[in-house]
Amino acid sequence: MNAAPFVCPVCNHNGSTPVFQCKDHFITGEKFPILKCNGCGFHFTGNLPALNDLGRYYKSDDYISHSDTRQGMVNRVYHLVREYMLARKLKIVKKYAGKEKGNLLDIGAGTGYFLSYARQKGWTVSGTEKDPDARNVAFEKWGIKILPDNELFHPSGDLFDAITLWHVMEHLPDLDAHWKCISSKLTPDGALIIALPNHESSDAKHYGSFWAAWDVPRHLWHFSPAQVRQLAGKHRFRIEAMHPMPFDAFYISMMSEKYRNSSFPLLKGLITGKISWLISLFSTAKCSSVIYVLRKNSE
Ligand SMILES: [Zn+2]
Repeated sequence: MNAAPFVCPVCNHNGSTPVFQCKDHFITGEKFPILKCNGCGFHFTGNLPALNDLGRYYKSDDYISHSDTRQGMVNRVYHLVREYMLARKLKIVKKYAGKEKGNLLDIGAGTGYFLSYARQKGWTVSGTEKDPDARNVAFEKWGIKILPDNELFHPSGDLFDAITLWHVMEHLPDLDAHWKCISSKLTPDGALIIALPNHESSDAKHYGSFWAAWDVPRHLWHFSPAQVRQLAGKHRFRIEAMHPMPFDAFYISMMSEKYRNSSFPLLKGLITGKISWLISLFSTAKCSSVIYVLRKNSE
Protein backbone atom coordinates (compact mmCIF):
# COMPACT_ATOMS: atom_id res chain seq x y z
CA MET A 1 0.00 0.00 0.00
CA ASN A 2 0.99 3.54 -0.58
CA ALA A 3 2.45 4.79 2.71
CA ALA A 4 2.08 8.47 1.89
CA PRO A 5 -1.36 10.01 2.36
CA PHE A 6 -3.03 9.92 -1.00
CA VAL A 7 -5.80 12.16 -2.22
CA CYS A 8 -7.66 11.00 -5.32
CA PRO A 9 -7.13 13.53 -8.12
CA VAL A 10 -10.61 12.80 -9.44
CA CYS A 11 -12.84 12.95 -6.32
CA ASN A 12 -10.48 14.03 -3.47
CA HIS A 13 -11.25 10.90 -1.42
CA ASN A 14 -8.27 9.60 0.55
CA GLY A 15 -9.00 5.86 0.89
CA SER A 16 -8.04 3.14 -1.59
CA THR A 17 -8.19 -0.64 -2.03
CA PRO A 18 -5.58 -2.82 -3.79
CA VAL A 19 -6.76 -4.45 -7.03
CA PHE A 20 -3.69 -6.55 -7.87
CA GLN A 21 0.08 -6.40 -8.21
CA CYS A 22 1.54 -5.52 -11.59
CA LYS A 23 5.08 -6.11 -12.74
CA ASP A 24 7.25 -3.66 -14.65
CA HIS A 25 7.79 -6.14 -17.49
CA PHE A 26 9.51 -3.55 -19.57
CA ILE A 27 12.60 -2.52 -17.66
CA THR A 28 13.10 -3.34 -13.98
CA GLY A 29 10.92 -6.38 -13.16
CA GLU A 30 9.78 -4.55 -10.00
CA LYS A 31 6.21 -4.95 -8.77
CA PHE A 32 3.74 -2.19 -7.99
CA PRO A 33 0.16 -2.40 -6.74
CA ILE A 34 -2.77 -1.07 -8.74
CA LEU A 35 -5.02 0.71 -6.24
CA LYS A 36 -8.63 1.73 -6.60
CA CYS A 37 -10.08 4.88 -5.02
CA ASN A 38 -12.81 3.99 -2.49
CA GLY A 39 -14.68 7.14 -3.46
CA CYS A 40 -14.94 7.01 -7.25
CA GLY A 41 -13.19 3.85 -8.45
CA PHE A 42 -10.31 5.72 -10.10
CA HIS A 43 -7.31 3.39 -10.52
CA PHE A 44 -3.75 4.46 -9.86
CA THR A 45 -0.30 2.94 -9.30
CA GLY A 46 0.82 2.66 -5.68
CA ASN A 47 4.26 2.61 -4.03
CA LEU A 48 5.56 5.00 -6.64
CA PRO A 49 9.25 5.79 -6.74
CA ALA A 50 10.24 9.36 -5.86
CA LEU A 51 9.67 11.75 -8.75
CA ASN A 52 13.39 12.29 -9.25
CA ASP A 53 13.87 8.52 -9.49
CA LEU A 54 11.18 7.92 -12.15
CA GLY A 55 13.61 8.63 -14.98
CA ARG A 56 15.34 5.26 -14.63
CA TYR A 57 12.04 3.48 -15.42
CA TYR A 58 12.13 5.06 -18.87
CA LYS A 59 15.71 4.20 -19.74
CA SER A 60 15.41 1.58 -22.43
CA ASP A 61 16.14 1.74 -26.15
CA ASP A 62 12.91 -0.18 -26.57
CA TYR A 63 10.67 2.49 -25.10
CA ILE A 64 9.21 3.09 -28.51
CA SER A 65 7.09 6.13 -27.75
CA HIS A 66 10.37 7.97 -27.48
CA SER A 67 12.70 6.12 -29.79
CA ASP A 68 12.85 5.03 -33.36
CA THR A 69 13.90 1.42 -33.03
CA ARG A 70 12.47 -0.81 -35.74
CA GLN A 71 13.76 -4.08 -34.35
CA GLY A 72 11.30 -6.92 -33.99
CA MET A 73 7.95 -7.62 -35.57
CA VAL A 74 5.92 -5.86 -32.87
CA ASN A 75 7.86 -2.63 -33.29
CA ARG A 76 7.63 -2.80 -37.08
CA VAL A 77 3.86 -3.14 -36.85
CA TYR A 78 3.80 -0.25 -34.37
CA HIS A 79 5.64 2.01 -36.81
CA LEU A 80 3.34 1.13 -39.71
CA VAL A 81 0.29 1.84 -37.60
CA ARG A 82 1.78 5.13 -36.47
CA GLU A 83 1.88 6.39 -40.04
CA TYR A 84 -1.84 5.70 -40.39
CA MET A 85 -2.64 7.20 -37.00
CA LEU A 86 -0.85 10.49 -37.72
CA ALA A 87 -3.37 11.22 -40.45
CA ARG A 88 -6.28 10.11 -38.31
CA LYS A 89 -5.18 12.23 -35.35
CA LEU A 90 -4.87 15.37 -37.46
CA LYS A 91 -8.28 14.70 -38.98
CA ILE A 92 -9.77 14.67 -35.48
CA VAL A 93 -7.88 17.85 -34.54
CA LYS A 94 -9.18 19.66 -37.64
CA LYS A 95 -12.74 18.50 -37.11
CA TYR A 96 -13.00 19.62 -33.49
CA ALA A 97 -10.83 22.73 -33.73
CA GLY A 98 -13.22 23.66 -36.53
CA LYS A 99 -10.45 24.74 -38.89
CA GLU A 100 -8.09 23.37 -41.51
CA LYS A 101 -5.08 25.20 -40.02
CA GLY A 102 -4.51 26.76 -36.64
CA ASN A 103 -2.37 26.81 -33.50
CA LEU A 104 -1.59 23.41 -32.04
CA LEU A 105 0.11 22.52 -28.75
CA ASP A 106 1.18 18.90 -28.25
CA ILE A 107 2.06 18.07 -24.65
CA GLY A 108 4.45 15.13 -24.30
CA ALA A 109 5.42 15.49 -27.93
CA GLY A 110 8.10 12.75 -27.82
CA THR A 111 10.26 12.83 -30.93
CA GLY A 112 7.86 15.18 -32.69
CA TYR A 113 6.24 12.93 -35.32
CA PHE A 114 2.78 14.37 -34.85
CA LEU A 115 3.99 17.98 -34.72
CA SER A 116 6.01 17.47 -37.86
CA TYR A 117 3.02 15.97 -39.65
CA ALA A 118 0.71 18.78 -38.50
CA ARG A 119 3.25 21.42 -39.54
CA GLN A 120 3.48 19.85 -43.02
CA LYS A 121 -0.28 20.31 -43.27
CA GLY A 122 -0.06 24.00 -42.43
CA TRP A 123 -0.50 24.09 -38.65
CA THR A 124 1.57 26.35 -36.40
CA VAL A 125 2.97 23.89 -33.91
CA SER A 126 4.36 24.02 -30.36
CA GLY A 127 5.29 21.16 -28.08
CA THR A 128 6.65 20.22 -24.70
CA GLU A 129 8.51 17.04 -23.76
CA LYS A 130 10.22 15.88 -20.59
CA ASP A 131 12.90 13.69 -22.19
CA PRO A 132 15.88 15.72 -23.47
CA ASP A 133 16.94 12.88 -25.80
CA ALA A 134 13.52 12.90 -27.48
CA ARG A 135 13.66 16.70 -27.81
CA ASN A 136 17.08 16.39 -29.47
CA VAL A 137 15.76 13.80 -31.93
CA ALA A 138 12.86 16.12 -32.78
CA PHE A 139 15.26 18.95 -33.49
CA GLU A 140 17.69 16.84 -35.53
CA LYS A 141 15.00 15.02 -37.47
CA TRP A 142 12.44 17.75 -38.10
CA GLY A 143 14.06 21.00 -36.98
CA ILE A 144 11.29 21.44 -34.41
CA LYS A 145 12.34 23.00 -31.10
CA ILE A 146 10.26 21.23 -28.49
CA LEU A 147 10.38 22.86 -25.05
CA PRO A 148 11.11 21.08 -21.76
CA ASP A 149 7.93 20.03 -19.93
CA ASN A 150 8.23 22.65 -17.15
CA GLU A 151 8.12 25.43 -19.78
CA LEU A 152 4.45 24.59 -20.13
CA PHE A 153 3.76 26.41 -16.88
CA HIS A 154 5.47 29.63 -17.90
CA PRO A 155 2.82 32.14 -18.89
CA SER A 156 3.36 32.93 -22.56
CA GLY A 157 0.06 34.48 -23.54
CA ASP A 158 -0.20 31.99 -26.42
CA LEU A 159 -3.63 30.52 -27.01
CA PHE A 160 -4.19 27.29 -28.92
CA ASP A 161 -7.07 26.05 -31.07
CA ALA A 162 -6.20 22.50 -30.11
CA ILE A 163 -4.15 20.97 -27.31
CA THR A 164 -3.31 17.29 -27.65
CA LEU A 165 -1.95 14.68 -25.25
CA TRP A 166 -1.45 11.37 -27.04
CA HIS A 167 -0.94 8.76 -24.33
CA VAL A 168 0.64 11.32 -22.04
CA MET A 169 -1.81 12.22 -19.26
CA GLU A 170 -1.33 8.82 -17.61
CA HIS A 171 2.35 9.82 -17.06
CA LEU A 172 1.79 13.27 -15.52
CA PRO A 173 2.42 13.49 -11.77
CA ASP A 174 0.31 16.61 -11.12
CA LEU A 175 -3.00 16.26 -12.94
CA ASP A 176 -4.65 19.30 -11.33
CA ALA A 177 -1.81 21.65 -12.31
CA HIS A 178 -1.86 20.37 -15.88
CA TRP A 179 -5.62 20.74 -16.30
CA LYS A 180 -5.50 24.30 -14.99
CA CYS A 181 -2.62 25.17 -17.29
CA ILE A 182 -4.30 23.54 -20.29
CA SER A 183 -7.51 25.43 -19.57
CA SER A 184 -5.61 28.72 -19.50
CA LYS A 185 -3.95 28.04 -22.88
CA LEU A 186 -6.98 26.82 -24.82
CA THR A 187 -9.17 29.24 -26.78
CA PRO A 188 -12.77 29.37 -25.44
CA ASP A 189 -14.00 27.14 -28.27
CA GLY A 190 -10.75 25.17 -28.64
CA ALA A 191 -10.55 21.39 -28.39
CA LEU A 192 -8.62 19.44 -25.79
CA ILE A 193 -7.87 16.02 -27.27
CA ILE A 194 -6.56 13.26 -25.03
CA ALA A 195 -5.75 9.64 -25.87
CA LEU A 196 -5.68 7.22 -22.94
CA PRO A 197 -5.59 3.47 -22.37
CA ASN A 198 -8.91 2.17 -21.09
CA HIS A 199 -8.81 -0.35 -18.25
CA GLU A 200 -12.49 -1.10 -18.85
CA SER A 201 -11.61 -2.42 -22.33
CA SER A 202 -12.20 -6.03 -23.25
CA ASP A 203 -8.46 -6.69 -23.71
CA ALA A 204 -7.75 -5.22 -20.24
CA LYS A 205 -10.34 -7.57 -18.74
CA HIS A 206 -8.87 -10.50 -20.68
CA TYR A 207 -5.26 -10.00 -19.55
CA GLY A 208 -5.84 -8.79 -15.98
CA SER A 209 -2.54 -7.88 -14.31
CA PHE A 210 -0.63 -8.84 -17.51
CA TRP A 211 -2.39 -6.15 -19.56
CA ALA A 212 0.52 -4.24 -21.10
CA ALA A 213 -1.12 -0.83 -20.76
CA TRP A 214 -0.90 -0.89 -16.96
CA ASP A 215 2.76 -0.18 -17.77
CA VAL A 216 3.73 0.40 -14.11
CA PRO A 217 5.28 2.54 -12.76
CA ARG A 218 5.40 4.74 -15.88
CA HIS A 219 1.60 4.96 -15.95
CA LEU A 220 0.70 6.66 -12.70
CA TRP A 221 -3.04 6.85 -13.43
CA HIS A 222 -5.40 4.41 -15.14
CA PHE A 223 -8.50 5.84 -16.75
CA SER A 224 -11.93 4.65 -17.83
CA PRO A 225 -14.47 6.79 -19.69
CA ALA A 226 -16.52 7.39 -16.51
CA GLN A 227 -13.50 8.69 -14.63
CA VAL A 228 -12.38 10.91 -17.50
CA ARG A 229 -15.87 12.42 -17.48
CA GLN A 230 -15.65 13.06 -13.74
CA LEU A 231 -12.11 14.50 -13.92
CA ALA A 232 -13.10 16.73 -16.84
CA GLY A 233 -16.11 17.99 -14.88
CA LYS A 234 -13.90 18.87 -11.92
CA HIS A 235 -11.96 21.19 -14.25
CA ARG A 236 -15.07 22.60 -15.98
CA PHE A 237 -14.64 20.57 -19.16
CA ARG A 238 -17.07 18.15 -20.74
CA ILE A 239 -16.58 15.20 -23.07
CA GLU A 240 -17.88 16.16 -26.47
CA ALA A 241 -16.91 12.99 -28.32
CA MET A 242 -15.06 9.71 -27.92
CA HIS A 243 -13.22 7.94 -30.74
CA PRO A 244 -11.73 4.44 -30.68
CA MET A 245 -8.04 3.75 -31.24
CA PRO A 246 -8.64 0.24 -32.53
CA PHE A 247 -5.04 -0.61 -33.44
CA ASP A 248 -3.95 -0.25 -29.84
CA ALA A 249 -5.87 -3.43 -29.03
CA PHE A 250 -3.55 -5.42 -31.32
CA TYR A 251 -0.34 -3.86 -30.09
CA ILE A 252 -1.29 -4.05 -26.40
CA SER A 253 -2.53 -7.64 -26.78
CA MET A 254 0.72 -8.77 -28.45
CA MET A 255 2.75 -7.11 -25.71
CA SER A 256 0.52 -8.66 -23.02
CA GLU A 257 1.04 -12.14 -24.54
CA LYS A 258 4.79 -11.54 -24.44
CA TYR A 259 4.57 -10.47 -20.80
CA ARG A 260 2.81 -13.67 -19.81
CA ASN A 261 5.39 -15.74 -21.72
CA SER A 262 2.84 -17.22 -24.12
CA SER A 263 3.95 -19.42 -26.93
CA PHE A 264 3.09 -17.71 -30.25
CA PRO A 265 2.55 -14.28 -28.62
CA LEU A 266 2.07 -12.49 -31.95
CA LEU A 267 -0.61 -14.89 -33.17
CA LYS A 268 -2.45 -14.99 -29.85
CA GLY A 269 -2.15 -11.22 -29.52
CA LEU A 270 -3.62 -10.76 -32.97
CA ILE A 271 -6.57 -13.00 -32.10
CA THR A 272 -7.31 -11.25 -28.78
CA GLY A 273 -6.69 -7.88 -30.39
CA LYS A 274 -9.15 -8.73 -33.15
CA ILE A 275 -11.84 -9.75 -30.66
CA SER A 276 -11.27 -6.52 -28.70
CA TRP A 277 -11.38 -4.53 -31.93
CA LEU A 278 -14.67 -6.16 -32.97
CA ILE A 279 -16.21 -5.38 -29.57
CA SER A 280 -15.01 -1.76 -29.82
CA LEU A 281 -16.87 -1.38 -33.13
CA PHE A 282 -20.06 -1.58 -31.11
CA SER A 283 -18.87 0.33 -28.03
CA THR A 284 -16.06 2.89 -27.97
CA ALA A 285 -16.16 2.64 -24.16
CA LYS A 286 -14.81 -0.94 -24.51
CA CYS A 287 -11.93 0.06 -26.80
CA SER A 288 -8.36 -0.63 -25.67
CA SER A 289 -7.52 3.07 -25.99
CA VAL A 290 -9.91 5.96 -26.39
CA ILE A 291 -9.46 9.44 -27.86
CA TYR A 292 -11.49 11.91 -25.78
CA VAL A 293 -12.47 15.27 -27.24
CA LEU A 294 -13.09 17.74 -24.43
CA ARG A 295 -14.57 21.19 -24.52
CA LYS A 296 -14.53 23.94 -21.89
CA ASN A 297 -17.90 24.60 -20.28
CA SER A 298 -19.16 28.06 -21.08
CA GLU A 299 -18.83 30.33 -18.03
ZN1 LIG B 1 -11.68 9.07 -6.38
